[in-house]
Amino acid sequence: MENSMAEYRQSRRRDSFVPVDSHSRRGRFIYYVATIWVFFFQKAQCGRRLAGIVLVFLHLTFFTGYLCHVLRNTTRTKRLDGICPGYSLENCPAISEGLQCSACVRLPRGNMVHFSSDFECGNSKNFRKIGKDRYRCEVVGDKKIYCYYFCFDVHNEGPATEVSIEVWHDPLVNDVSGFISHFPSTIWVAPQEWNRYRPLDQTCVEVHKEHLVIHLSLEANKTLRVTDNWPSPYSDTCAFLKKLAGERQDRCCLFTIGKSVQGREIIGLRAGTPGAPRMLCIAGQHPIEFPGVWAMRAIADYISSAIGEVQILREKMLIEVIPLVNPDGTVLGRNAFTSENFDMYVAFGSKPNAQEPEAAESKLLWRWITEKDTALWMNVHCYLGWRNNSEPPFDGWYEVPRGLFSDSKRKHTYEALCDTMRLETDSPSTTMEPDIHTENTLEYQIAKRYGIPSVFYEINGGTAGAFQSGKRGLRVFRNAVKTFLDLI
Ligand SMILES: [Zn+2]
Repeated sequence: MENSMAEYRQSRRRDSFVPVDSHSRRGRFIYYVATIWVFFFQKAQCGRRLAGIVLVFLHLTFFTGYLCHVLRNTTRTKRLDGICPGYSLENCPAISEGLQCSACVRLPRGNMVHFSSDFECGNSKNFRKIGKDRYRCEVVGDKKIYCYYFCFDVHNEGPATEVSIEVWHDPLVNDVSGFISHFPSTIWVAPQEWNRYRPLDQTCVEVHKEHLVIHLSLEANKTLRVTDNWPSPYSDTCAFLKKLAGERQDRCCLFTIGKSVQGREIIGLRAGTPGAPRMLCIAGQHPIEFPGVWAMRAIADYISSAIGEVQILREKMLIEVIPLVNPDGTVLGRNAFTSENFDMYVAFGSKPNAQEPEAAESKLLWRWITEKDTALWMNVHCYLGWRNNSEPPFDGWYEVPRGLFSDSKRKHTYEALCDTMRLETDSPSTTMEPDIHTENTLEYQIAKRYGIPSVFYEINGGTAGAFQSGKRGLRVFRNAVKTFLDLI
């Protein structure tokens, strides 16, 4: 990288030999002023010969400058592409020079409208202009099905305008049906100064066989963030938990189970009575499944609240909530994976009987679950898309085979929890039967090895933003806790 930057600086020095750079504003200004000056000089009927020489010199330098500019851009674009480490680079040297860079997500400066996804939770690549006021990009997927999330900024540096943006599947994953099966769904937009996203009017989104088209009205000199899943970024989620812990020190405290591979603390909020039955609640195994994270934020708020029945709950249970168990994946805007390409949902990968799960973050979770007795486990995921074969809010749920519980009392508790999920939540709004966890999931293994019952809920992000996700997650939590406490 050092050598590449030295080469880049050297290339800049060579550029300074061009006498009049006809591409730059300053170059054009000098050229026009000099031409007008020569014109009047000729009119004055004196020094015609000198004026003619100056005019020829100016024309020559102007067109030579233009030729140099074209040649330089062609060669330098190739050279700079070679040193740009990819779309996540904030200050791509090619882009800072106003050139195209095939590795970088930003369009060259000078375009009135340009794009970026180089921020926490950002996702999308290969932004291109493909027509008048029409642009195109692709999502960055992880694997089949998990290749639908996008979150990018549209910067408008000109007057108010309207643009159309085509959002395509990731050609590297090449799962067209997996991508498009998540749509139609709510597209959320937020200008930078808002603290809430708003759903984009349905008439502004077209769903085609392989891509979406999003029509946007852009205000003058404003940036608009566009996404299909309302984010709860890691930094914001941590700040929220710290605020709760700071303001409610008599009712809750922060805790950590360790750091992610990239060094981010996996923090949670704890409330209740030490020694009482311990309930653990998580979200974010699939890191951009934000409705689960919003649900956990609401649960953290609830268990540390001043509500009377919660005071009684804190006396009867110890509850620990971790809203984001895969912080690296969330920051990187990944659909399914950790920074090391592990899917934390199928925690044991191809070895369901292994001592520990495969991802470093899953190992931390496993120790947290197993180091003390765990009485109840709650996990919330999400998916997207309005279904035309079911009823809103299009949520879902998973169960483990009940035969996994060897202890009859635990088995009975689990059956009661399954009844609660089916009858007292929106779980069956998409399908009347639950999906079944595979052998390599945490839910399956904690049931089999430790007899720990679980509730596993899926919120549809197409019908839930921050508030609805919190409400639905809290409903599952409260009903599950009530069922559990009624039986002990
Ligand atoms: Zn998931």
